Amino acid sequence: MTSTTVLRPVEQIVTAHRQTEGGGFVVRRPFPTAAVDHFDPFLLLDEMGPVDYGPGEAIGAPDHPHRGFETVTYMLDGAMEHRDSTGAVGVIRPGAVQWMTAGSGVIHSEMPTEEMQQRGGRNHGFQIWVNLPAADKMIPPRYQGFEADEFTRASLDHGGMLRVLAGTVAGHVGPVETSIPITYAHATLHAGDTVQWNVADGETALVHVFDGSAVANDAEASSGQLVAFERSSGAVTVSAAGSEPAEVLLLGGRPIGEPIARYGPFVMNTRDEIVQAIDDFNAGRLGSIPAEGSGVERNN
Ligand code: MN
Repeated sequence: MTSTTVLRPVEQIVTAHRQTEGGGFVVRRPFPTAAVDHFDPFLLLDEMGPVDYGPGEAIGAPDHPHRGFETVTYMLDGAMEHRDSTGAVGVIRPGAVQWMTAGSGVIHSEMPTEEMQQRGGRNHGFQIWVNLPAADKMIPPRYQGFEADEFTRASLDHGGMLRVLAGTVAGHVGPVETSIPITYAHATLHAGDTVQWNVADGETALVHVFDGSAVANDAEASSGQLVAFERSSGAVTVSAAGSEPAEVLLLGGRPIGEPIARYGPFVMNTRDEIVQAIDDFNAGRLGSIPAEGSGVERNN
């Protein structure tokens, strides 16, 4: 950081609450809550686990629909298998990302792999929901799958690591193609490490701490707290607070600025479009997941 760096003001710090999702797994969710519905263009941030499952205990989210936005799954531990109504089958392993553009609609399941269901193991990951602009809400569904070694990684000066999934942080560019400008990065910060993120003017910038404690500009946040910055100009710098390592996600994006009508797994612009989505789902127009064994294994 140079002496001329302007730091973006902190808008608020929100603390995640715990919530049960899917087949009964517990997530830590900073938003949406009663207080914060969304941080445009982000609609949801869930941390799944970390949880250690015994044999036969692992659970996930069986068949369910989505329309009008993107679901992004980033696994740190464990292995999730997704199956969907386009016939795609894929396993998301530690460090891997599935960036799913639901668009006009999919039915998918997000379940621990057969092996994980039988033997148990640690499950830990994130799912974020990224909104789509009205013009893209009904585009055909699309998947982008990335393995851990496809992400841009940079070692930090004091032993930490920066991984850029999408967008640009500290000059490192992530590989994911996004409809609107999105930044998604994961930093492991050791004492003395600092990441400077030059957020574009007017864009949303969020720092979510999920282990240890971190300092983001002039705010200190501990595990489970998310720091939201003003949509002004200026950079975000993040470092570990104290001597213990911290784990943080950086999330940035250009606000879409359109009306949001959301109902469960559907996020549209108007209530009529939500009613249409429910009708389409009930009438089977979002399709169904092909029977086991008939899917096509692919990650893209
Ligand atoms: Mn889903």
